Amino acid sequence: MAFLFVFLDGLGLAPSTVENPLAAATMVTFRDLLHGPLTLNHVQERADLLLRPIDAALGVDGLPQSGTGHVALLAGVNAPALHGRHQPNFPPVALRPLLAERSIFRLAIQSGHTVAFANAFSAGYWQALAARRIRRSASVIAAEGAGVRLRDNDDLRENRALTWDITRQAAHERGEDAAMITPEIAGSHLANLAREYALVFFECFLPDLAGHGRMGAGAVPEVLTRIDRLLGGLLTARHPTDTILITSDHGNIEDDRTQSHTRNPVPLLVIGPQAGHFATVTRIDAVAPAILAAL
Ligand SMILES: [Zn+2]
Repeated sequence: MAFLFVFLDGLGLAPSTVENPLAAATMVTFRDLLHGPLTLNHVQERADLLLRPIDAALGVDGLPQSGTGHVALLAGVNAPALHGRHQPNFPPVALRPLLAERSIFRLAIQSGHTVAFANAFSAGYWQALAARRIRRSASVIAAEGAGVRLRDNDDLRENRALTWDITRQAAHERGEDAAMITPEIAGSHLANLAREYALVFFECFLPDLAGHGRMGAGAVPEVLTRIDRLLGGLLTARHPTDTILITSDHGNIEDDRTQSHTRNPVPLLVIGPQAGHFATVTRIDAVAPAILAAL
């Protein structure tokens, strides 16, 4: 029995309208599972599946942002309230110690569980950090604080890691030694990690980038299909005792009238035998405690 936590940045749950790309995107796996698209119209609870909207604004004015949203998801705290506002991109410096000490990774390990952070980080990532072109992500701070190994391109070649963009396209285009793979194959790699670890975390920034218009015109439907195919591969390869949880930090891609974040709720989609444990989760800062209780 393992738990797969798939974090999709910038994916809100909104009604099935013409403004919501999820209503019309080619997402056959989600449609089969939900008997319809991943929209507010298909909220449901069955024995082994739950889809519900959960709040990402956490009582703080303004648009929810990634820096504080990631901390809320990974540490189970109201990070925007603690910080006084929603902070984009990277976690507030003052919240880093809390994230390192109270992350879902660290608490799971302290309870005797094994944890894998599935994403691979290239040498270029660490160079960009050293050159201060970027700051540490919440996930990296949480992993380092918990002693969870950060995977690299060697793991990628051995199919024991995923890239944030699922298909290895960005690494391939940078000239790294990474042949592209299909989203279904990436999903199978994620499922394989669950054979070795109790908690597997994967993060993907595609919906947020596409929603912000940073992947060019026409990227939104392709990104949604890529994620759908990842889930298809994951469901095919996973063990029936595994539970998959998909959620986000804020809306973005679900409203094509804006390239900004939204205050929409985000989906909490749980597939598998532990789905019932999540029926009372209403906010993103309640996700991590619920996963820890379900492990
Ligand atoms: Zn975000």
